Amino acid sequence: MKTALITGASRGIGTACAIALAKCSYNIVLNYNNSEEKALNLAKILADNYAVEVLCVKADVSYKAQVDEMVKTAIDRFSTIDVLVNNAGVSLEKLFTDTTLDEWDKVISTNLTSVYNVTHAVLPTMISKHSGSVINISSMWGQVGASCEVAYSASKAGVIGLTKALAKEVAPSNIRVNCVAPGVIMTDMMSGFSDEDLALIKEDIPLGDFGTAKNVADIVSFLASDKTQYITGQVIGVNGGMVI
Ligand code: NAP
Repeated sequence: MKTALITGASRGIGTACAIALAKCSYNIVLNYNNSEEKALNLAKILADNYAVEVLCVKADVSYKAQVDEMVKTAIDRFSTIDVLVNNAGVSLEKLFTDTTLDEWDKVISTNLTSVYNVTHAVLPTMISKHSGSVINISSMWGQVGASCEVAYSASKAGVIGLTKALAKEVAPSNIRVNCVAPGVIMTDMMSGFSDEDLALIKEDIPLGDFGTAKNVADIVSFLASDKTQYITGQVIGVNGGMVI
């Protein structure tokens, strides 16, 4: 059986990705940081419903030592990691001029350095197997930039650059690296927006509604699959037409 590691799988898009990949019969390494109860509940649901093995690992993905320990635990248990979904992330809405260096560092380390940390730890096992799929969750704001989300947009643009460069570097090892750039997806990350703000945002979505975590997870499981054997280095928008 193949194994998938999903970072930030305790809530939102990460949870939906874990469910989608368990449905495809992957054993799941479910990473969380603060939401332990949610992660443990999800692990039980996956193991009970999809006949897969699930390993829950707490790690703050912005810390390399915690990530290295998590990946070692995962490989000790499953021998391999075939699919890596770099999903964990945080948002920050404020003026650039009000953004402190600590806030900037937290966004960059959680959203971008984390992708270095986890991918760097996982790639050796993929290289030795001469196969693997890395799927990075960016954002449409990484493609076009969002006012009052400069740190977030910069971190997500970095994820896109990392994806394209790494895809070229590891293609000879038969490892594919792709990126999903979601639009506005209804998760806890959107809970800071008022109903009025959400109504205004919705007016700008050609398909007329917000996305769901499952909309993103469906593309992630597609990119994990053999159906996308010839796709690497791509940025796939899941945004209802908001960025074309
Ligand atoms: P969410 O509901 O807020 O969930 C965030 C997840 O990331 C949680 O599972 C959280 O784990 C985890 N996480 C945060 N910091 C972490 C850290 N330092 N170490 C390990 N895990 C950490 O957000 P979401 O909407 O599902 O977002 C998932 C990804 O999609 C993010 O990268 C986000 O930027 C991206 N995205 C979201 C949207 C959107 O509209 N929702 C749009 C574009 C892109 P704990 O709770 O266990 O700490």
